[in-house]
This record gives sequence, C-alpha cells and structure tokens, in this order.
Amino acid sequence: MFEFLYPREYLPSVFHITPQKLRALGINTLIFDIDNTLVPYWIKVPTPELEEYFTTLRENGIAVSVLSNSREERSKVFCAKMQIPYVYRAGKPGVKGMERLLEKLGKKPSECAIAGDQIFTDVWVGNRSGVYSFLIKQVSPKDELITAPKRPLERLIVRHYCKKFNKEVL
Ligand SMILES: [Mg+2]
Repeated sequence: MFEFLYPREYLPSVFHITPQKLRALGINTLIFDIDNTLVPYWIKVPTPELEEYFTTLRENGIAVSVLSNSREERSKVFCAKMQIPYVYRAGKPGVKGMERLLEKLGKKPSECAIAGDQIFTDVWVGNRSGVYSFLIKQVSPKDELITAPKRPLERLIVRHYCKKFNKEVL
C-alpha cells in the first residue's frame, strides 16, 4: 500500500552504489542528499573517503551532484572543494528543485539516480520524478529536529518494503 514510497534499492551506505551498478542501469548521474546520507548534519565537508568515492565515480563517467532541502550555506560549503553542482532549499518531495537540478545538469530523469536517507523526501521525489531511488541507511542515529518525527513512519514503511521483497531491515 506504500508502493509509491518504496525505494528501487535499499543499501547500507552510498559506497555500495558503484559505477558498474549505475552503468548496468543506464545511469550516468548520481544525485545525493547530504544530511545523514553522506555525513551527519554537523559535519560540514566531505570526508576523505567520500572525496575518493566522488573521484572514482567521476573517473568512471558518473556525474556527481547534490539536492538538499537545507539552506544555501550547507550545500555551498559542502560542495565547494570538489565543485559539485547543487540545488539548495530543494523542497523535496516537491519536484521543482529536482527539475531545477536536472535542467542545470542537462540530464533526463531516466539517466539519473538519487541517493538519500529519507523516504518522505529523497525516495519520494525520485519516484515522482522518474529518477531511480536508492534508500541509504542513515549514517548517524542523530537526526535534526525537523527529521526526527518522520522516522517512526519511515521505519514502518521500510519494514513493509523489506517483508515484501524479502530483504533485511538495515
Ligand atoms: Mg537526509
């Protein structure tokens, strides 16, 4: 009954999204949520491990970008060093921010995937836009105040999803 909220894939971390996997799906662009997908909300810049991962993606022909609901400063600081294109205050799960990003990148939804830790923002906007959705286990158990209340219902949906597809709840 929650099918429209189900991710296409559910993974323990972004590092499980490899260039090989994306290529097999016909995807050449990976769109990331920042908070609790890549880093906890209090970490301002990518870790060395993430920098290496972004570089590997790029070397393999995968464009890297960011779609964040946070204010500009968050994306600006996070994306600066690696010059990652971003759209801030994206209004996920609204599709306007996603459309702005795709236009900026010159990409069609079918060649993109989104990776995020939240069903009600990241997965939903992906599914609504025709962008392949990866649900990623949150990197920290600590959420921002705005996110915390949505978690119990998200967990319920994840449990339904895992039961239906015979997957393990992460
Ligand atoms: Mg997030």
